[in-house]
Amino acid sequence: MNIDKLSGVGAKRTHSLHTAGITTVAELLNHFPRDYDDRSQVKTVAELSLEAVNTIRGVIATEPETAVMPRKGAAALNITKAVIKDHTGTLELVWFNQPYLKKYFKKDNEYIFTGKVRSLYGGRVQMQSPEYEPCNSSSLSHGRIVPVYTTPKQFSQKTFRALIHQALKVIASGNTKIDKVQTVTESNHLSNAFAEHLPAALRQKYNLCSRKAAIFNIHFPESDELFLAARRRLVFEELFFMQAALLKMKETTTSQAGIIFDDVKLEPFLSTLPFTLTNAQAAVLSDIANDISNSLGKRMNRLIQGDVGSGKTAVAMAAAYLAMKNGYQAAIMAPTEVLANQHYENCTQIFAQLGYETVLLTGSIGAKARREVLAKIQNGQATMVVGTHALIQEKVEYANLGLAITDEQHRFGVNQRLSLTQKGNIAPHTLVMTATPIPRTLGMILYGDLDISIINELPPGRQTIKTYSVNSKYQQRIHEFVRKEVEAGRQAYIICPAIDAPENNDESPTPSKAEIKNVLAYTAELSAALPEIKISYLHGKMKPSDKQQIMDEFKAGKINALVSTTVIEVGVHVANATLMIIENAERFGLSQLHQLRGRVGRGKDQSYCVLITDTKNDETNARMKAMCNTSDGFKLAELDLELRGAGDFFGTRQHGLPSFTIANLYRDIDILNEVQVAVTELNKLTISQEETENMQMRIRLVLENTYGGVM
Ligand code: ADP
Ligand code: MG
Repeated sequence: MNIDKLSGVGAKRTHSLHTAGITTVAELLNHFPRDYDDRSQVKTVAELSLEAVNTIRGVIATEPETAVMPRKGAAALNITKAVIKDHTGTLELVWFNQPYLKKYFKKDNEYIFTGKVRSLYGGRVQMQSPEYEPCNSSSLSHGRIVPVYTTPKQFSQKTFRALIHQALKVIASGNTKIDKVQTVTESNHLSNAFAEHLPAALRQKYNLCSRKAAIFNIHFPESDELFLAARRRLVFEELFFMQAALLKMKETTTSQAGIIFDDVKLEPFLSTLPFTLTNAQAAVLSDIANDISNSLGKRMNRLIQGDVGSGKTAVAMAAAYLAMKNGYQAAIMAPTEVLANQHYENCTQIFAQLGYETVLLTGSIGAKARREVLAKIQNGQATMVVGTHALIQEKVEYANLGLAITDEQHRFGVNQRLSLTQKGNIAPHTLVMTATPIPRTLGMILYGDLDISIINELPPGRQTIKTYSVNSKYQQRIHEFVRKEVEAGRQAYIICPAIDAPENNDESPTPSKAEIKNVLAYTAELSAALPEIKISYLHGKMKPSDKQQIMDEFKAGKINALVSTTVIEVGVHVANATLMIIENAERFGLSQLHQLRGRVGRGKDQSYCVLITDTKNDETNARMKAMCNTSDGFKLAELDLELRGAGDFFGTRQHGLPSFTIANLYRDIDILNEVQVAVTELNKLTISQEETENMQMRIRLVLENTYGGVM
């Protein structure tokens, strides 16, 4: 049923609903409240709480009055006042610029109001700008737990609430026979908000209410208990189908034929490395070797999780070496040009000795160079292909791609990862790498379609990075610290959240931005304070070739201190850098701070990280303390999740996580645990053919909506 069939929805509102992604009544009902107001307690005048929101029922005692108050330099203010009474006393109500209310309220009629009650000068008490409703109507906005929505344009909370209520009534009314609908066809599948997609046996086992009950109680909860049951059911459903979809994706990829690499001996590659592999690196490589030499010919689809500096690059290169040795090409995709360049240098250095040619494809290479590179990839002359997003954006044709590697996976979406995989004629083996450790349960829903290997050990001889947290009064001493390290022949990074001062930024300036350190001002300041050292800066809006030049100079030691935004965060390796200073540290999550800190401590010298913040709240304090006391990325990730909640943890969209409409991965971790068991134990339940088909239809829809059907 289309949304414009509801009464009160004309052209304007239809348009605004469509803009909000709501075209049918079912979609409207799947637009859940973002919050709730508990207005279930209706008070008397005598019971009102001051300086708080109250709900009260009362009779209009005297005709409402309207007064106009002129204001200097602004439109006059229209004030409407009414007085209500109940058996305990009277209360004054006031509204601003709603003159029509004078006619709306009728003397001696009873209404119900919700609004903030203020105590004014001289002991007067007033309820300000309350929401109102006649008492006889079946009250949607008062005397109950009231839903609060993210409302489309053209709707107030009150009108949107009424629309939802109307939709519920329409759908639940017998003549549409919605309750009885058992068979759901693909076309009307989502047109029916009450259609049940969870098998009865599953609902019984996990104590889940029907979808119909859930939809009613998520919008207009009849009690706390019913609300919680409704929410549980809907969260379970959402997570269940997402997890099931991922499992389905995994089944599909692992059933795809893979290339068999017979020769998995790593010599002479290992002898060209300047170090021996750690046990953890070797173990992960043996997982990989098992996958790619699998005589069943299954495709590898593996995630490598390893803390910053754990040596993922060497593992990726070893895998690439095996692909090349067996006569195939390997590709590695990095999220930034700086990182792609770094991989290119590493690969060239090692693979040239072994007789393999490496090429680099990024957005910034010239047209002629690009043509050459593309030709070499197509005719197979280049066997090692390194690049950025350009690898998936452009029409790259491979002679025979055997292995596709994505570095810093958390920077890419699932779709991007999958499209690199689709580059080969036969689906290539895939390896994805991430330095953002995540708790296991979350890993299953983030990377549910992948096998996981963990590098849980750092190369020998790594020192812990001494970490301190200070406030900006230490500015002077921090400059001295930079001078001292530079005089000793070492280098420093300084991270600022912003590029330029607010008035020079494109984005609309917000007051808080004023206190945020920016790269350009900091560079000027530091250059003035330390004229004898060479300082430069780096940020995301610079031309890629300029960025590369700065990075090259920094690597070569021609720049002593580099002021940068977080573009430096990912993967950059300069062993001589020993000092990392992070301004406005409160603005970064623990995982990101840890990544930034990982840019130092890469050589033999003692390294330091200084976090600077003037924010004094418990959460920031806890984060700074955790950084100073812990160098374990996994522990920090768990803590980050705990301190900030999944909203923020995933909020940066850095994890390629699909968005959920009702589930909250942090709050609902217990339900997620149940779901993960439920998904794998479905075969233990008695489920009808019809129920199975319903489930599968929904899974297909999730795959389509979330992953664009890329499989
Ligand atoms: P990440 O896992 O963060 O991507 P890298 O692959 O960049 O880490 O490795 C960090 C540094 O550690 C590099 O300089 C690399 O050469 C070095 N490294 C990697 N493996 C070893 C090892 N087994 N022994 C000593 N150094 C190593
Ligand atoms: Mg790396």
